Amino acid sequence: MIDYHKLTPEQEEEMIRSEFNALLRDYAATAHKQKVEIITKAFEFANKAHKGARRRSGEPYIMHPIAVARIVVNEIGLGSTSICSALLHDVVEDTDYTCEDIEELFGPKIASIVNGLTKISGGIFGDKASAQAENFRKLILTIPEDVRVILIKMADRLHNMRTLGSMPPAKQLKITGETQYIYAPLAQRLGFFLIKTELENLSFKFEQPAIYDELEKKLMQASPMLEDSFQIFIRPIQKLLDSYGYQYEILKRIKSPYSIFKKMQTKHIPFEEVYDLLAVRIILKPKPTEDEKANCWVAYSAITSIYKPHPDRTRDWITTPKTNGYEALHVTVMGPGGNWIEVQIRSERMNEIAERGIAAHWKYKTGEHSESDLDEWFKSVKDMLDTSDFCNAIEFMDTFKLNLYSTEIYVFTPKGDIRKLPAKSTALDFAFYLHTDIGLHCIGAKVDHKLVPLSHELQSGDQVEILTSKNQHPQLDWIDITTTAKAKAILRSYLRKEINANIKNGQVMVEEALAKLHKAPTAETLQVLLDHFKYNNANDMYMALSKGTINLDDIGQLYAPQQTNKWMRIWKLQFGKSKKEESSSGTAPQQIDKKKVIHITDADIGSGYRIADCCQPIPGDPVLGFIDESGQVIVHKRDCPVAQKLQSSYGNRILSADWETKKVLSFLTTISISGIDQTGLLKQIVTVISDDYSISIKNINFETKDGVFEGTLSIYVYSTEDINNLCNNLLKIKALKTVKRIN
Ligand code: MN
Repeated sequence: MIDYHKLTPEQEEEMIRSEFNALLRDYAATAHKQKVEIITKAFEFANKAHKGARRRSGEPYIMHPIAVARIVVNEIGLGSTSICSALLHDVVEDTDYTCEDIEELFGPKIASIVNGLTKISGGIFGDKASAQAENFRKLILTIPEDVRVILIKMADRLHNMRTLGSMPPAKQLKITGETQYIYAPLAQRLGFFLIKTELENLSFKFEQPAIYDELEKKLMQASPMLEDSFQIFIRPIQKLLDSYGYQYEILKRIKSPYSIFKKMQTKHIPFEEVYDLLAVRIILKPKPTEDEKANCWVAYSAITSIYKPHPDRTRDWITTPKTNGYEALHVTVMGPGGNWIEVQIRSERMNEIAERGIAAHWKYKTGEHSESDLDEWFKSVKDMLDTSDFCNAIEFMDTFKLNLYSTEIYVFTPKGDIRKLPAKSTALDFAFYLHTDIGLHCIGAKVDHKLVPLSHELQSGDQVEILTSKNQHPQLDWIDITTTAKAKAILRSYLRKEINANIKNGQVMVEEALAKLHKAPTAETLQVLLDHFKYNNANDMYMALSKGTINLDDIGQLYAPQQTNKWMRIWKLQFGKSKKEESSSGTAPQQIDKKKVIHITDADIGSGYRIADCCQPIPGDPVLGFIDESGQVIVHKRDCPVAQKLQSSYGNRILSADWETKKVLSFLTTISISGIDQTGLLKQIVTVISDDYSISIKNINFETKDGVFEGTLSIYVYSTEDINNLCNNLLKIKALKTVKRIN
């Protein structure tokens, strides 16, 4: 670590120059036409403009734009216009210079990119709920002007994530929330796989540092073993490829801590049971006389002649590339150690595209304005923005996200043309995809010559003919039977009046129902309903209420007071606390300093702090706080999906938090166990639990089948430490094979 305060101005200038020279060296190594002069001019200008300004870490501010420019060259693959724009990206926002100054010095192109970058980061992150979302919409709106705006913004975010350590904790959480909700999916959609992985991994590192460190440690320990199995695995492959006279590179890919964590979560398995830590990538150098696709298939058959392939896990992205441009052949084979190993086969060109996304497309496609898939995608986003009149930006974000994550299907027109659609598209979506008028007058469709309703979900390979009638007009429930953002947006604007009436009606229903329970319709009370009915946004829920698809009959129990909550109880040992609870329940805790990590104890719950119903954290879990309308702090688990959404939409109301147990409250938690059945086992288990004075049993459930037994224990504990101790003690019983917490 450099102590920036100890540097003399001369040393500092030298450090800046040497970083800039590194940028020039990076640039010289590319195939771009060398325009060093204008880059140097942009640097000198930015350096002068930011003179004296510092980043939070203490380093001179200009180091940030230089770093962003280096990412733009090295990791995104852009040229001089983008490099200059990256160097200048914070000048208009942070100094007295204007866009006119930039235009005069560097021309209209660079000025308009810098202007785009300034506009999207200059928004005021006020108390408005949708501030970030609104900002993101601005980001997308600038795309049609120049794609480079969004690419440089992505580089800017990547560097800010790499240097996030020097930010205060609450700010960190706000930034990681946005990164996970917006930037990582965006990078994925644009095909920047390396950047996407790094963004997710860094977010994870700052949100759950303890778990991250532990996984990293375990990866380090496993590393020699992985290296051995890699070498053993590739040896026969190398031999065979060599005998074909192929030129190639074989790389070892180790799963990132974040994707390991995700796998452990979704499959409920410990680190030791994540078997696909290792993947192998083979990159083939082109043979001038042969087709690169054919080469990939030859490599494929070489590998599968040595190792047995998994029947369901061959992916051919060569014949039909993904929409983001990704091309490769994936096959999963049984390795010599008895584990499945994924092998990715790519040509050099395909590899470049996989790692550097659209920038590589530019490199390999001749003619600047070729209609690539990506241009089409940008166009569809722009169409969506044009046709939509979204009532709020959050709704827009959700619709947009829908598009970011969906994978695609391929269907045929009656004439046999192939069309790409998002997975889960219905016949009606396809009608809107063909033309707005066809969608608006669609009465049904024929799939492979059989008549199907509008709501029919299309499958890859279907041949689809749309039937229309002049007398047909869109109905409200059409919105529910479309899944693509485009169709939904057209329908929403066409049916706006009816929708508004229905929304209003549903809103009144909610307000009346809440009033009966003496509750106000705040963001927090609404979130409870949204979680309960599983809706992403309030308007969809209002619509469903108005249409009668859902009703508010039983919502009383959702708002039952904490103390009687099923999963938490006040320990008998508590002394004289009930008075405090009565007087202060529902009020705000005194003076919160948002810049600091807040310390919560279980004794605080009920007085200014509440536990989120959605994820039910217990002391010891990594948590964060969210300040609701009434000033109460709601405590969520950091990996709770609701919390993640709040982080990106209400970033300035998020608090970094940790907590300790004062053993006042105990929390209901469930442990699942399994093992070999034998006499006296249940008694052994109960003995272990009741020997532990800090745990009490609520109920036990067991089932034995063919000598194997499985069961769950519901117990009250004070903290995760209690659970860990209990699990360790239970595992001392030989017959038990697995013991783990499941909520
Ligand atoms: Mn910046």
